[in-house]
Amino acid sequence: MQQTLFTNVSVLDCTGAAAYAGEVLIEGNRIKEVFRSEGKSGGAPRSGEVRVVDGGGATLMPGLIEAHAHFSWNNQDSLDSIGRMPVEEHVLECMIAARTYLECGYTSAVGAAAAKPRLDVVIRNAINAGKIPGPRLLANGPEITTTGGLGDVNPSHLPAYSFVEIVDGAEEMRKKVRALLKEGVDLIKLNLSGEEITITARAEDTLMSDAEAGAAMEEARRRGVRACAHARSAESIKMCIRHGIDIIYHASFADEEALDLLEKHKDHVFVAPALHWLYTTSYEASAWGLTPEIAKQMGYHHELETAIKGIKEMKRRGVRILPGGDFGFAWMPHGTYARDLENFVKLLGFSTMDTILSATKLGGEIMAMPDQLGQIKPGYLADVILVDGDPLADITIFQDRSRLLAIMKDGAFFKEPSPRSERPAPLTEPNVPSPQKTPVTA
Ligand SMILES: [Zn+2]
Repeated sequence: MQQTLFTNVSVLDCTGAAAYAGEVLIEGNRIKEVFRSEGKSGGAPRSGEVRVVDGGGATLMPGLIEAHAHFSWNNQDSLDSIGRMPVEEHVLECMIAARTYLECGYTSAVGAAAAKPRLDVVIRNAINAGKIPGPRLLANGPEITTTGGLGDVNPSHLPAYSFVEIVDGAEEMRKKVRALLKEGVDLIKLNLSGEEITITARAEDTLMSDAEAGAAMEEARRRGVRACAHARSAESIKMCIRHGIDIIYHASFADEEALDLLEKHKDHVFVAPALHWLYTTSYEASAWGLTPEIAKQMGYHHELETAIKGIKEMKRRGVRILPGGDFGFAWMPHGTYARDLENFVKLLGFSTMDTILSATKLGGEIMAMPDQLGQIKPGYLADVILVDGDPLADITIFQDRSRLLAIMKDGAFFKEPSPRSERPAPLTEPNVPSPQKTPVTA
């Protein structure tokens, strides 16, 4: 079986341990062994068949994992335009986004809704079959909303077209969820609350009923499929807990009761705040007519401040918080994903280590593969990136694709390692050399 040995690397294994100088042996699509060394190569046994990649002191770590991805958002400046896009163009846009995630070092992504029922499913299947490059993807269906809820942008005098599925009542919900499950989605997405940018539903409004959410969850559970929700209002966060919705997006207006519930259920709920949407909509969308003044009037500054306070409190209480920024709008285009990692450090006060663990170890958990993804350990899937420099010292390194020296997914290089001579010298020395060469066991 094909073996690749990374030598002379600083291993950031994302178990929570400090980085250490070492070597990592890949066999097939799995990590076979991890060795601590004394900063130089020599720890791992090798035969002639092994491809040796000298990391030159660069950081070897798990590929990044995005918790809120929309492959079918295509950097548009309005939600309306993804409702109008014909399916043929839309498939191409999704293929481009999938490739872009991988180019940015993201080897897994949680689909947070697709603009048409089969887009994510078709792209996931094509990636898994090796037909197109892309990260491992949990495929989602379109956001399911209610008449007048988030995403119902259709003027009432025109035939319905949208990027969402509009249902009213438990029975319509049941039928819609069943139809999406039939197509093979890994997740369903419910829009429980509104969003300031829409005219029909505000962020603090809760528009879906318990009967509707309950029916959706009953159908999803029947097939063992998990659910995620757009939940900004306090009430919508509580609805997520009430109905066992696994992934809570945004969670901006958590009140004391919501915080208590999140803490109580922290072992099976994930919160992905998608702060980059709030941040760029507040401060970086002027070119599209959304000046900071307008965004403030719309309520985005208030929501951003409230969300930051709430998420910090959730973190303090041990709730799992994951990056994933809702990318794919004109003012936060695909390819800028790692900016949400910077938000975790600068806006939420996370340490760089906690931020990276949120994007790797917790990423493996939200992908429902905690024993296979998101860490450098023997037996784990070989999704790894080689990073020029020390991301623990500078979280913005991930934003520069040229600093990603190699990208491997499932044991195969998507980005081949650049020859050492062509690469600038590493900025930092590998840290914490250990006294002996010891295989690290799982
Ligand atoms: Zn989203």
